[in-house]
Amino acid sequence: MCEKEKILVIEDEPVITEFLRTGLTYEGYDVTLTENGHSGLSALQQEIFKLLILDIMLPDIDGFEVCRRIRDRGLDIPILMLTAKKDIADRVKGLDTGADDYMTKPFSFDELLARIRALLRRSGAVSYHNKLTAADIILDTESHEVTKSANSIDLTPTEFAILELFMRHPRRVFTRETLLNRVLGYNYVGEANIIDVHISHLRDKLDDRPPRLIQTVYGVGYSFHPEAKE
Ligand code: CA
Repeated sequence: MCEKEKILVIEDEPVITEFLRTGLTYEGYDVTLTENGHSGLSALQQEIFKLLILDIMLPDIDGFEVCRRIRDRGLDIPILMLTAKKDIADRVKGLDTGADDYMTKPFSFDELLARIRALLRRSGAVSYHNKLTAADIILDTESHEVTKSANSIDLTPTEFAILELFMRHPRRVFTRETLLNRVLGYNYVGEANIIDVHISHLRDKLDDRPPRLIQTVYGVGYSFHPEAKE
């Protein structure tokens, strides 16, 4: 029998945690519940989880802050955010702080399961293969080679890092600041719009005609949409 996949839940509403614990345990997952941001973060330090279900409204630090701290630690755990707010701005904020997907309460358990399976499939595919594929682009994280329709594409290390980040997190919205931090590091001193220059070069090299793989999210940043070409 294969090992149960561990899921961490950070949520303070007893009705929802009970709903998640019962349902997910029945589906064969190993569920750990924590009811605030700090206990959730320390659970993540002590154990390796396959997925995090994270509520936004928590009694101490909110879900956005939890998410940001997890990504700042360099943890790539898939994060599914729960939100009671239907506000689109909150959704974008959630995805920008590093969440992979979100669900608006109330949600059906079947839909939740489908999202969980999709996230686990995606992260599993990422960790076991050196080659990331999106549309006609293949990026080899070991040899640092990139091809488009089997033609080799020459990228600078920064362009490569941006593309790798995009390919690992399709549809996630990244702000310029997040891209700067993740790609150039926190010590980078300079203008955030240097990212626009790198993105423009990337587009010239492998995204030269519509529909765009790299989409501009006006007023926010960029996101990567391989499905646009598939
Ligand atoms: Ca809550």
